[in-house]
Amino acid sequence: MRTKSKKENKINVVTLGCSKNVYDSEVLMGQLVANNKNVVHEDENDDGNIVVINTCGFIGDAKEESINTILHYVNKKELGEVDRVYVTGCLSERYKPDLQKEIPNVDEYFGTHDLPNLLKVLDADYKHELIGERLTTTPIHYAYLKIAEGCDRPCSFCAIPLMRGKHVSTPIENLVIEATKLAKKGIKELILIAQDLTYYGLDIYKKRALAELLTALAKIDGIEWIRLHYAFPTGFPLDVLEVIHNEPKICNYLDIPLQHINDDILKSMRRGTSHEKTTNLIAAFRKSVPNIAIRTTLIVGYPGETEAIFQELKDWVEAMRFERLGVFAYSHEENTHAASLKDNIPEKVKQKRVSDIMDLQSQISFELNQEKVGQVFKCIIDRKDGNYFVGRTEFDSPDVDNEVLIDATENYVQVGKFANIKITSATEFDLYGEPEKVKS
Ligand code: SF4
Repeated sequence: MRTKSKKENKINVVTLGCSKNVYDSEVLMGQLVANNKNVVHEDENDDGNIVVINTCGFIGDAKEESINTILHYVNKKELGEVDRVYVTGCLSERYKPDLQKEIPNVDEYFGTHDLPNLLKVLDADYKHELIGERLTTTPIHYAYLKIAEGCDRPCSFCAIPLMRGKHVSTPIENLVIEATKLAKKGIKELILIAQDLTYYGLDIYKKRALAELLTALAKIDGIEWIRLHYAFPTGFPLDVLEVIHNEPKICNYLDIPLQHINDDILKSMRRGTSHEKTTNLIAAFRKSVPNIAIRTTLIVGYPGETEAIFQELKDWVEAMRFERLGVFAYSHEENTHAASLKDNIPEKVKQKRVSDIMDLQSQISFELNQEKVGQVFKCIIDRKDGNYFVGRTEFDSPDVDNEVLIDATENYVQVGKFANIKITSATEFDLYGEPEKVKS
């Protein structure tokens, strides 16, 4: 019988998947700290004797990464390097019975709405009074703010509602308390996240209240940038565009996954929109906020996507010239509405379509970045990386968008602070620049 290690309890929280999982891990760690537990996030020494893995169950690759991470720590447990392994998050929510059978050496599996029970096995009590208290894992100057959980949308390809449940908005007053606490800690950039940001308020206020929330958050001293992620096209609240235009703290940036543009595919995807409506919506964004940076995400290889339909998508991407774009190959997910369709596009063709779209987007991004050469942009400096300081403009979100590289051998800028940077050159996805010379 393998004996319990002599180590003092140290809980290592490992997060996989999206920013919403990062947020949930931060809330878990905030609760553990409030219970005086010794907790770390993705400990580089990897010497925690208790490991909590917050998994992702979105699509094939993400699920595989989660399973490999579980196996990694179960293996460490069998070697006596870890005493207990707990698994939570979307993969666990979606596949608990199978996981319990396939990987029985995990101490316990928890769902996405199971925090109090997870805390109990970690010998901690759930503290209701800790509104917005969390241990942020992002750099000191920016943080995610999850404004709602779950999703009520019927998108055919998506398993998220199966894992995250129905849409639940967090009241404006709680979010203002949370954001104010973050600002007091030095957070300057708030990144608003949800499964569907634009659905905010429909459940608790019976109206779309994102614009109202933005106006309230913009009043908080210390917060200088507010960024919007995961908007949805159908029923998009146009009053949000007014707030983006009028309120300087709201970045001229909008992330809105559009997934596809062909009418038949959009219908099969149950997106509730059309080629024409989507194109008009993008035009409305550009008219209301002329220099807005629009980020979108597309799915290629969806059942029934013929070469002609794919060509329509490519032509549209070329015409729309999105500032930021990501693309996924369709993943056939069980228990989704699309699971009943025939996954009839070969994987090789799916991957070819992914690279075709990204080649197109690289060219568009290169051309758009050339237009920035010679201009000065307010940038937040995220880190020092080798010989470069690395920052972002208001048009760039962390980890997914362009970066501004400043030669650290020639220049000095302060990490965590804003600086005006003059762009001197650009590639597809990076800008190079130097601090703006202050005229004497
Ligand atoms: S909006 Fe659609 S794609 Fe996004 S989480 Fe909800 S169901 Fe999934």
